Amino acid sequence: LKQKGRDGWQFFNDYQHHQALQRLNVTLGLRGAIENQELQARFQPILSSDRGRIVGAELLLRWFPPQGEVSPAVFIPIAEMSGAILPIGLWVFRAGCLAEVEWRRRWGTHAPYVSVNLSARQLSDESLVDDMSRVLRETEADPSRIVLEVTETALMADIDANLLVLRRLADLGLRLAVDDFGTGYSSLAQLTRLPVSILKIDRAFVDGIETRHESRAVVRAVIGLGRSLGLTLVAEGVETQGQHLELLNGGCGLFQGYLFHAPMKPEDFVRLMDAQSDF
Ligand code: C2E
Ligand code: CA
Ligand code: CA
Ligand code: CA
Repeated sequence: LKQKGRDGWQFFNDYQHHQALQRLNVTLGLRGAIENQELQARFQPILSSDRGRIVGAELLLRWFPPQGEVSPAVFIPIAEMSGAILPIGLWVFRAGCLAEVEWRRRWGTHAPYVSVNLSARQLSDESLVDDMSRVLRETEADPSRIVLEVTETALMADIDANLLVLRRLADLGLRLAVDDFGTGYSSLAQLTRLPVSILKIDRAFVDGIETRHESRAVVRAVIGLGRSLGLTLVAEGVETQGQHLELLNGGCGLFQGYLFHAPMKPEDFVRLMDAQSDF
């Protein structure tokens, strides 16, 4: 028993050691990530319920340090802790702006909108609005075709301070989406205080929609209330036809998930759009 206990202790220690080492490696590695051109954008199509047309794309960040690929689920939280998310977040926003300009040049009014993720740490950065305003000017991107995704948890963490920043971002003409909606504890009434136009229903609810009664009820309620508030609803993580059908019947307008497309390289996204011949 004692032996077993010691093994357990040993294992826990190794795990913690591994975590700390990973955090350090990632923190050091991220310092040169922009300069060394190790960051890349992927785009995941967002489809309309109307004949499955691609109306938008979410920019998802990828990091390729010399030793391979590191998942954003690993490096984003570490970048938030170290502050590296600030320059990285701005790199992402610029990449989103450049995509918007290129897509509008290619497809005009049929060009999809670009959705970029914004972390809580960026929202509390006092130079965020000026930085984004500058990038918009430099790239000549159309802000009304760019959506900023902020998670419900990040939004509600400090709603009064965020309100001021979000209003200034909305004043730049940018659109705002609540990401991972349903995982936090905000009421839709609170949300109406924010200049939000899109709700992204969290994958966890979409996942349970066919099997869990509660998930189905939550999703139906969110879609109904969201629509009555004039919000656009996006279901994320749609993996099955059953989920798609249930969401469609519930009144959801936009869909994103492996059932349709995984995140793809920019050139593959362009090819896919070009092949979409119905315009
Ligand atoms: P998220 O914003 O909720 O992004 C959706 C995640 O779900 C992405 O993972 C996407 O690849 C994945 N996904 C899409 N469709 C499906 C599906 O049908 N099934 C399943 N199981 N997963 C699906 P990814 O790309 O690994 O990103 C993970 C998280 O990392 C993102 O979650 C976001 O929180 C963060 N992240 C990614 N890029 C950025 C960025 O540029 N800035 C910030 N601040 N965070 C980012
Ligand atoms: Ca997102
Ligand atoms: Ca999400
Ligand atoms: Ca998520």
